[in-house]
Amino acid sequence: MSSLRYLALQELASEDKKIAHYGGKKITAMFGSNVFTGRAMRECLSDEAYKSLMNSAKSGSKIDRKMADQIAAGMKAWAEERGVTHFTHWFQPLTGTTAEKHDSFFTIKSDGTAIELFDGDALIQQEPDASSFPNGGIRATFEARGYTAWDPSSPAFIMEAGHGKTLCIPTIFIAYNGESLDYKAPLLKSIGALEKAAVDVCHYFDKNVTKVTTTLGWEQEYFVVDETLANARPDLVMCGRTLVGHSPAKGQQLEDHYFGSIPDRVYEFMQDFEQESYKLGIPLRTRHNEVAPGQFECAPIFEEVNIAVDHNSLLMDVMNKVAKRHKLKVLLHEKPFAGVNGSGKHNNWSLATDTGVNLLAPGKTPRTNLMFLTFFVNAIKAVHDHADLMRAAIASANNDHRLGANEAPPAIISVYIGKYLTEVLDEIETRVKDKFSEQDEVILKLDIHKQIPELLMDNTDRNRTSPFAFTGNKFEFRAVGSSANCGSPMTVLNTIMAESLKSFKADVDALIEKGEKKEIAIMHVLRDYISKSKKIRFEGDNYSEEWAEEAKKRGLNNFKTTPEALDAFVTDAAKKVFFNNGIYSERELEARHEILLEEYVKKVQIEARILGYIATNHILPAAVNYQNVLVENVKGLKDLGLGESSYKAQLNLLKVISEHIQQINDNVEPMIEARKKANNVEDMHKRASMYCNEVRTYFDKIRYHADKLELLVDDKTWPLPKYRELLYLR
Ligand code: ADP
Ligand code: MG
Repeated sequence: MSSLRYLALQELASEDKKIAHYGGKKITAMFGSNVFTGRAMRECLSDEAYKSLMNSAKSGSKIDRKMADQIAAGMKAWAEERGVTHFTHWFQPLTGTTAEKHDSFFTIKSDGTAIELFDGDALIQQEPDASSFPNGGIRATFEARGYTAWDPSSPAFIMEAGHGKTLCIPTIFIAYNGESLDYKAPLLKSIGALEKAAVDVCHYFDKNVTKVTTTLGWEQEYFVVDETLANARPDLVMCGRTLVGHSPAKGQQLEDHYFGSIPDRVYEFMQDFEQESYKLGIPLRTRHNEVAPGQFECAPIFEEVNIAVDHNSLLMDVMNKVAKRHKLKVLLHEKPFAGVNGSGKHNNWSLATDTGVNLLAPGKTPRTNLMFLTFFVNAIKAVHDHADLMRAAIASANNDHRLGANEAPPAIISVYIGKYLTEVLDEIETRVKDKFSEQDEVILKLDIHKQIPELLMDNTDRNRTSPFAFTGNKFEFRAVGSSANCGSPMTVLNTIMAESLKSFKADVDALIEKGEKKEIAIMHVLRDYISKSKKIRFEGDNYSEEWAEEAKKRGLNNFKTTPEALDAFVTDAAKKVFFNNGIYSERELEARHEILLEEYVKKVQIEARILGYIATNHILPAAVNYQNVLVENVKGLKDLGLGESSYKAQLNLLKVISEHIQQINDNVEPMIEARKKANNVEDMHKRASMYCNEVRTYFDKIRYHADKLELLVDDKTWPLPKYRELLYLR
């Protein structure tokens, strides 16, 4: 019988998997057509309801029940006109994917008449009966009372799947006592905290600022493989990454994929998922090949961070769905292939005022430049003070493969700012003295300003190895994993920035109270922050061995694994900063810590199971069968009376294969034992550490021998699609 691999390869060779063309439509004609926003709201809502919803979206003001009923009725009318029959509260639990529970509008009244109903209650709150979503002990499973609550700041949208259409209401997911169980609730809190702190600091420079918006533009990397080939690999199906597989003769060394044109089938897929995204209001802008073969990237125009996070979650979902139509599989995993670049998700982050100023863009006057420097230096200080939280925010079993693998930023958090800004900060640090002096005014008015406009020419001065790089008018958090929910890193970044700005304001106010001039006081506090946060700044090659050593000398942490990295969430410092800014209570933090550890355990556990299974049920039989062929061959040659020299090579090969079989066997068994041992440990941190330091150590050993066998066994009978097939055949 042919292996799945062979059937998949045959199918790929015979069938034209291309489907209809998707390009050619004008983007503006479809953009946002499935989103309840702007014109749709105006058309379907009364003036009163429209205003109430707009106000709530803008300033978070409450919407009363009566108004909610009106809005729900408007939404329903709008949705039904488009063929929608069901609605769902759409949320982002800590499992890392999105969740939905569909209800139909259809209901039966007490007198038996069937009607379509969607009222304010259904819009505002639902109980998704979500006992199996992770809750870290916050909500005992038997209580099963988590609630989803409407987030009016993110517009409702229609999700199309097959012939069905569903009205999706973006919601937060919380326990009955209000503790958060998702990514969105803390994100919204962090946005509020940062807005308040940033507006307060803006008032030093411009009293007209009443709102500061956090902006995010993500860049999403992903792999695309043929679906039938992927389905022939249990590891890709169950874990999203390959656990075995020898690297192909041709990898990414030629970099021809990066500069090449997009393969046809992928191009059709891209246009298709882009169209679906446009309908959902996701403003995708760029698409291109990435460095590794089979790897691609897309990025939107940046948006307000809450919307941007929703849009990224939605996009990942859309990509997965649309890929099926093209008989392709999208791999969002951080490291689907060993020896080939992994995938990240750069998070470009900035702050904008309602007066139209990007607070991380250098200004044109001494005053606006001082404002820029204030936010710029505070961001660096925030990362310096809470680097471990930044690391924890991006920690996952998947991302561990990437951070520190000489292709992505290392697990050491540092900030890159470029040559010019380094000079500016150095200048402030050396020229502004501890004591206030006449000289201060000159430095402030002339010298700082003189240097900054040169920044505009700084665009080429890029450092692609830094985990957190300033790129001219925003910071780019590059260490985020490709499958991550951006809510986690954004919540941390917003929170620590809010904290930094609050202490900045307190420090400046203290000096002003002592009689210092405002600008001079600001400059002195900035100088203090620059010098205190110096060790987090690094301009060199983050991939180098020297940096790991240098960072160690500087006292910067290098947490290479998730269990270690996650501990930063439950330190006293973390509890303080999250509590002070109203993001998490101590209990919520501890629950979250536990959930993330459990998530890690489950991931590694599944991988260990699948690896054991593949090794035993796929690879060993293939090797043994090939040995049988060799044995027959040797016997035959012997029967013919040929001497040993005629079958020496075969005998040798038999021996080598036996050794690899033995080694695989010798490692699979103890891996299973290690797993059992870990499973019996109650303490989640300890269990995660055991999975990390014991169970996982067998992965590479087993893989090594499996990959050797791949090179020895007859290609025709090898059961798993090979790297060259997955990466190059479409
Ligand atoms: P790159 O060279 O890294 O591809 P781009 O200029 O193409 O840089 O921008 C990458 C991402 O950064 C895009 O999603 C873009 O919208 C986003 N971006 C640009 N300006 C801002 C900003 N002020 N705030 C947040 N994101 C931004
Ligand atoms: Mg980038």
